[in-house]
Amino acid sequence: MIKTQVLVIGSGPGGYTAAFRAADLGKNVTLIERHPSLGGVCLNVGCIPSKSLLHTAEVINESKHASDLGVTFSKPKINLEGVKKNKDSIVQKLTGGIQALAKARKVNVINGYAKFISKNQVVLDDSNEVIEFEQCVIAVGSRVTKFPMFPFEDKRVMDSTDALLLDDIPKRMLVVGGGIIGLEMATIYDALGSEITIVELGGQIIPAADKDIVSPLFKKAKKNYANVFLNTKVTSMSTLKKGIKVEFEGKDAPKNDTFDKVLVAVGRTPNGNLVDADKAGVHVNESGFIETDRQMKTNVENIFAIGDVVGQPMLAHKAVHEAKVAAEVICGEKSGFDVLTIPSVAYTDPEVAWTGKTEKELKEKGVDYEKGVFPWAASGRSLSIGRSEGVSKALFDTKSGKILGMGICGTNAGDLISEASLAIEMGCDMSDIALTIHAHPTLSETTAFAAEMAEGTITDLMPPRKRK
Ligand code: NAD
Repeated sequence: MIKTQVLVIGSGPGGYTAAFRAADLGKNVTLIERHPSLGGVCLNVGCIPSKSLLHTAEVINESKHASDLGVTFSKPKINLEGVKKNKDSIVQKLTGGIQALAKARKVNVINGYAKFISKNQVVLDDSNEVIEFEQCVIAVGSRVTKFPMFPFEDKRVMDSTDALLLDDIPKRMLVVGGGIIGLEMATIYDALGSEITIVELGGQIIPAADKDIVSPLFKKAKKNYANVFLNTKVTSMSTLKKGIKVEFEGKDAPKNDTFDKVLVAVGRTPNGNLVDADKAGVHVNESGFIETDRQMKTNVENIFAIGDVVGQPMLAHKAVHEAKVAAEVICGEKSGFDVLTIPSVAYTDPEVAWTGKTEKELKEKGVDYEKGVFPWAASGRSLSIGRSEGVSKALFDTKSGKILGMGICGTNAGDLISEASLAIEMGCDMSDIALTIHAHPTLSETTAFAAEMAEGTITDLMPPRKRK
């Protein structure tokens, strides 16, 4: 039997962070991972490989539009093996780095599938080895949601992991789900040459974000892709020799169509039900989430949970922060998950990012707010890089002027949004943002300009109105 002070189950961004922080604070730590390489979905089959492929897509797209700049490249020749090799090498570098960091911290890494047998023990599925722990962090993440009605047994029906393998470039590809994964993968396959159709159940793509913030991306998708069907449901999918026949239900969609490949990206399901948590007395809700308090403690005193398995948003950066809290509480520090905002980013082209409250949330809650919207068509930097379609929107409390939320669509929106997250955490008001000197010409100026639009002090455009 292996004995450890702290056991962490799952080595995604949440799991390895919890393990490393606990080790740094002096604990003897064991980290269990079922897959051969560390890093979880994010590093192996999620955030990182997709970002590598999105960069490839960006290079292809930039070269296509270079003629607008007076430079002409010949049509790109795509060497799929080379694209995959580059992606895989980045993943290997990062997962290898995690492995090295674990070793340097003397974290005991075990490859296996752990299930609880009591509130102080897990057993490894293959070896039957028992690991006894004082405290445990469950960081088992989530899995792709698979509707049984879709024939995933046919390799032409893909989930995001399959799509990242890049087995081939289908001629006609259907993406079911206009959320973050669907749209990022559509960006990649479109650049590589597939004809894309997107089908989204809701009335807009990326339903969680404000419609005006998503609008530049939507316009581009409508222009570049074969079709984007909103308010549309896939009612059936059948496998034919010539492709996947899909039936739709929706005002604008055809009754059916046949595609070479289909990507299903309709969300992720938490893995709380897959570790026999009940044997430790840990409560898992009907959806598979494990509830925790602000110290990331479950209903069982010595067992913590973090990341996708504790709830939405299922984002790596949320998991990392929760992980540090769990490890610090385990090590006796006064720590709690107490954040005002968790930013969201779709790394599409253009990118979409939002943080704090969205305008639709403020409307639903009846909050008295003001907004400043700055169209990037008036940004010198945006025009210089040939991308004028962006928009930055800042939302402020009418009475206090404090920033409540921000949405950005445009090049590097995912990087730009951090300023607004910091502003929200620091309780900044419009003037703090507007009067902070942003370097010119930068895309970051658009955040200050959005605040100036709300204040009525903008001079790069006509001010919408003077603030009293
Ligand atoms: P999602 O929830 O973001 O989007 C799923 C979309 O599918 C929604 O728009 C939904 O309305 C739609 N949908 C649901 N059922 C449908 C149906 N039957 N037909 C058509 N459309 C349907 O989920 P996702 O894109 O699969 O992403 C999963 C998770 O991974 C999310 O929590 C996301 O935040 C996270 N993720 C984040 C990033 C990032 O941070 N850049 C990238 C990838 C994934």
